[in-house]
Amino acid sequence: MKSAAELLASDARFLWHPYSAMDGQAAAFPVASARGVRLKLATGEELIDGMSSWWCAIHGYNHPVLNAAIESQLQDMAHVMFGGLTHAPATALAEQLVKLTPPSLEKVFFTDSGSVAVEVAMKMAIQYWHARGQSRQRFLSLCNGYHGDTFGAMSVCDPVTGMHGLFSGILPSQLFAPAPQPGFGEPCREEHIRQFRDLLAVHAHALAAVILEPVVQGAGGMRFYSAGYLKQVRSLCDEYDVLLIADEIATGFGRTGKLFACEWAGISPDILCLGKALTGGYLTLAATLTTSTISDAISNNPPGVFMHGPTFMANPLACAVASASIALLLDNPWQQRIERIAQGLEQGLAPCRALPGVTEVRVLGAIGVVELEQAVELSAIQPAFIQAGVWVRPFGKLVYLMPAFIMEEEDLAQLCAAVVKVLAGRT
Ligand SMILES: *Cc1c(COP(=O)(O)O)cnc(C)c1O
Repeated sequence: MKSAAELLASDARFLWHPYSAMDGQAAAFPVASARGVRLKLATGEELIDGMSSWWCAIHGYNHPVLNAAIESQLQDMAHVMFGGLTHAPATALAEQLVKLTPPSLEKVFFTDSGSVAVEVAMKMAIQYWHARGQSRQRFLSLCNGYHGDTFGAMSVCDPVTGMHGLFSGILPSQLFAPAPQPGFGEPCREEHIRQFRDLLAVHAHALAAVILEPVVQGAGGMRFYSAGYLKQVRSLCDEYDVLLIADEIATGFGRTGKLFACEWAGISPDILCLGKALTGGYLTLAATLTTSTISDAISNNPPGVFMHGPTFMANPLACAVASASIALLLDNPWQQRIERIAQGLEQGLAPCRALPGVTEVRVLGAIGVVELEQAVELSAIQPAFIQAGVWVRPFGKLVYLMPAFIMEEEDLAQLCAAVVKVLAGRT
C-alpha cells in the first residue's frame, strides 16, 4: 500500500479536485476510512465530519443497513440498461418518491447527478411548451442561486459566482430576479416580490419556467429566505402561466427540518429536482419528478418522447441504497433529531457572534452558517480545522456545518467548539 506521502504526491501530479487549480501543490487530505460521523485520515487523525460530504451522507458513513442494501442488490445485478428494461429497485424508489413528495408530482426520471437532473428539468419545461405549440426556451432564476455545473444548469446559476462572463459565448442568456430579501420566518411584503413580478409580467410569454432553490439558497451563499416569498412565486407562476421548477437537490430529505423545503410554504412545484441526500451518500443518483399534465403533454405531442437517456439511468445499486436510505430516515424520529441538531448548532455557534470579522450566524434545521466579512484563506484555515479534529470545508466568506442526522450531542458540541476556536484564532 502507498504511504500517505506517496498518495499525496500522486494526487498532486495526476488529479483535479472540485473548483481547484492543478498547480502541483497537494491541496487534499488523504482519507483511509469513514465510519459514523468520523473520517479517518491516512496520516492517523480522526475527524468529526461537519459536511456530510456536501449534504449527502445524512446517516453517516459505512452504515450497516445501507451497506447491506448494496450487498444484497449486488447479488442480483449491479446494472442493466434502462432502455427497454426495468427492475424492482427503480420501481420501488419511484413509488417512494411519488408518495413522499408534494401531491401533484407523479412521474419520475432518474439521472446520475444533480446537475443532470436540472438539465432534465429544463428540457422537460421546454418540451412541455413545445408540445403546447409555444416556443418558450428561457428561464427566470434568482441571484445567489446554484443549480449545478453543466451548461444549462450553469446558465441559471448566479451570473457572478457562476462565472457567466467566462462562458458568455456558449451560455444561454437567462433572466435573474434579485435574491429574496426577507429572511426565513419573516413576512414577504409587496416590495419584496415586486421586481420578480415585474420580470415575470414582461417575459412570461417567453419563459419556460422559473427555477429556484426553495427556502435555502445553498452553494450560492447559504442564504435562508422567507417561505412567504416562495408562496408568492408559486401563485405568480400560476397567474402568468409559467412552470415552477424547485431544485431540492440540497434541501430534500429533511435537511431544513421539513422533508422537503417546499413544505415550509405549502406549495407544490411543477417539476422537482432531487439528488445529494437522496443517495444516502453512497452512489451517485438524482431524480427529476413532474406532473401528469407535463408528462402527458410531452408524450402525446410530437416528437412524442422525452429526449434524454443516461447510460446509467436508474442504476439498480444506486436505487436500492437510496430506497434503504429513505426507509431508514422515515423509520427514525428524524424531525426530533434535526430539531436537536438545530439547537446544538444554535448554542454551539452562538459564541461566533462575538468574534471580530463575523457578520452573521444563522441556523435552519441541520444547517449552521457563520458568515464572515472576508473570504477565508483555505490553505491556512483547513489545516487549523484538521488540528482541531474536525472536517469543515468553508467556501468564500462562509464557514458552514451540515452534520449527519445521527450526530450525537457531544460530537456536535465538539464540532461547533472547533469552529469557534479556529475562527477566534485567526489573526
Ligand atoms: C449540488 C447541487 C446541484 C448539483 O448537483 P451535482 O450532483 O453536484 O451535479 C444542483 N442544485 C443544487 C441546489 C445543489 O446543491
